[in-house]
Amino acid sequence: MIVLRNRVQDKLVEYLQKKLVSLQYDLLVDGSFGPDTHAAVVDFQTKNKLDPDGIVGGDTWTKIYEMTEPARQVTVLSERHTNVMHLHPKVRTAVVKVFVQLQSENIPFRIFEAYRYPQRQAQLYAQGRTKPGNIVTYARPWSSYHQYGLAVDFVLFLNGNWSWDTGATTRGWWNRLHQLGIQEGLMRLDFEVPHLQLAGTSSSALKQGMYPPGADKSWTDNMKMAIG
Ligand SMILES: [Zn+2]
Repeated sequence: MIVLRNRVQDKLVEYLQKKLVSLQYDLLVDGSFGPDTHAAVVDFQTKNKLDPDGIVGGDTWTKIYEMTEPARQVTVLSERHTNVMHLHPKVRTAVVKVFVQLQSENIPFRIFEAYRYPQRQAQLYAQGRTKPGNIVTYARPWSSYHQYGLAVDFVLFLNGNWSWDTGATTRGWWNRLHQLGIQEGLMRLDFEVPHLQLAGTSSSALKQGMYPPGADKSWTDNMKMAIG
């Protein structure tokens, strides 16, 4: 997947330039992928042992994320969290690729929720059962892939507000989200439109501690904290 090439003009380029500036590259943030930005990307890729092709794809984005948005200390486990660093690297890379591709197509999705602690899952499960409200999940704590950092929810962000609208004007965007997710090794659930999770594993395998290969410190530390 090729996301950004030389001489592409996009809001995403501006975002990339801000990230590179925060990594000490001396760049003008002008939203234009010119020779300076290209040189900075190639330098960044070289220093981080990535393919130095000057194209900002999933691997490069993941590395940029890792270096500019380190996992923060989580204090309130019942809150909604969006930090991709708490996702398993396999899912993190997929999520970043999907997000960047959607941005480049001007489809206004944002990550609504990434890692979800069992405490919050318990609260959500109670909703519509022992607590007021509509049922929002069928998964008890440790039954949702969110508790393993293997799921993400993308929601539309329109005019400053979250939107779950799946009407005629937005249906194509949701379809595109699912299509991109599936391309990156994720799968969807029929009853939760915003949700994508890692394909090729099962809830019972996860409950037995059989996690996908390729774990890193950021994911492992958070899992240890969640398990307690
Ligand atoms: Zn979900």
